[in-house]
Amino acid sequence: MKIIDSHFHFSKIASFQKAAELNGNDYSRAGFMKEAEQNGVVSAVCMGISEFEPGSFPDVHTETPMTYDIDFLPDDSYFCAGINPHMLDQINLMHLEKTLTRHDCAGIKIYAGYYYYTVTSPIYKKVYELAMKYDLPVVIHSGDTFSDRGLLRYSHPLYIDELAVRYPDLRIVICHLGNPWVMDAAEIVYKNKNVYSDLSGLQVGTKEVFGRFSSSELWLNTFRTAMVFADRYDKFLYGSDWPLAPMKSYIDLIKVMVPEEHHEKVFYDNALNVFKKLRV
Ligand SMILES: [Zn+2]
Repeated sequence: MKIIDSHFHFSKIASFQKAAELNGNDYSRAGFMKEAEQNGVVSAVCMGISEFEPGSFPDVHTETPMTYDIDFLPDDSYFCAGINPHMLDQINLMHLEKTLTRHDCAGIKIYAGYYYYTVTSPIYKKVYELAMKYDLPVVIHSGDTFSDRGLLRYSHPLYIDELAVRYPDLRIVICHLGNPWVMDAAEIVYKNKNVYSDLSGLQVGTKEVFGRFSSSELWLNTFRTAMVFADRYDKFLYGSDWPLAPMKSYIDLIKVMVPEEHHEKVFYDNALNVFKKLRV
């Protein structure tokens, strides 16, 4: 089966580098491409992020747009331009707009919860207008944060409902199914035609951690229930959050979580409907 990974990282974030090491992932271009080839991953979308000072993520001093800095992107990969809401002056917006026209820029990433603004804050208005102008999706972090400096009230998926209603022409991707608010996220996907969700980051860690969780029916059913409720397998996207998880472990997890008749859509087709710039 051919796979599109809709959510991975390729930035020198100290906590990501540490996690990659613990998980045994080679966090490099060659490391990604090797795992991709072994697992049938033919295209992937990296979430742009950067930190100014090592360990400062989420960093208020980093420039918008945030991209990637491990190396050149792996072959057939794309990126979403990351937004630091503290850096959205005229010059930042000009750089952002120029970046959005790059052939390998597939969308925009907003780090709700990492930055203390709700997604409905007027601070993001120009960003949403640019997304619509270039027909690019806005991918929004939702749910638990990979940093204890995050604030969960800003990353609750419920705010995305209001955003979706305010901008019916804006394509929105909720990250991580809003985990742990997965039923809330599922309702927002069900209700709003312009909202999708990726399935990345539902678990992070080593192969052993994945072995434990992917054999727990109770844990799996939390996510299955949300997806059954939404009944929109045309709107869920596979993503790994690599290097926070081993690629194979993550694919195996989503394979047992999503009914087999929907694998083609979740692992491949849906990503093409959201990230329209992808050429595979
Ligand atoms: Zn991520």
